[in-house]
Amino acid sequence: MSDFKVYPNTTPKQMEELYISDVAHELGHIFGLQHEQQRLDRGRFVHFECKNLQRYDEVKKQVEEEHKKDPNAPTMDKVCKDPLLSHRYGFAVNQFSTEPYYWSEKPDQPWTMTRSAAFDYNSLMLYHSAAFSKFGEDYSKPIGDYVIVKWKGLAPKTNPPSSANDQNAEIIRHNMVPSSWDIQAIRELYPWT
Ligand SMILES: [Zn+2]
Repeated sequence: MSDFKVYPNTTPKQMEELYISDVAHELGHIFGLQHEQQRLDRGRFVHFECKNLQRYDEVKKQVEEEHKKDPNAPTMDKVCKDPLLSHRYGFAVNQFSTEPYYWSEKPDQPWTMTRSAAFDYNSLMLYHSAAFSKFGEDYSKPIGDYVIVKWKGLAPKTNPPSSANDQNAEIIRHNMVPSSWDIQAIRELYPWT
């Protein structure tokens, strides 16, 4: 998921957890698993905050300048959702986007993620709150400063709040071992094992 950089204010124990969870996550991809936070229904379970991503301020400046010159150029709101625009600006939105990817070889078959199983907060494939954060791997920030957080006990069928705070949301820590759903998904993908 992320590159192995040493963040300031990170203890050796936290660094170890980060390495383990990153390697386990990447192994999940090798087995064919996709990101839990990119499920179409993720908004009811987690909150993604684009403005806390690395390079957000830089990309926003560029996007706004381009938009001033050309009203048809994408807005920052669009760049925060669109996985392909995210590539164009070297921005990590594609790791969080729930919008379909259109592969050039199969333009009529957009690719999105749906899964009937319950949202899996324990999955190796769910990013931790500070993933790709402009604030680094620092867990002492107010909830509003993280990239992805978990809604606290959102009642069924209520609309999620528009922003996260210490009352309505909490941090997602590094998951270091496969969840039972991760194991089940791998078993379904490799039924002969
Ligand atoms: Zn990943």
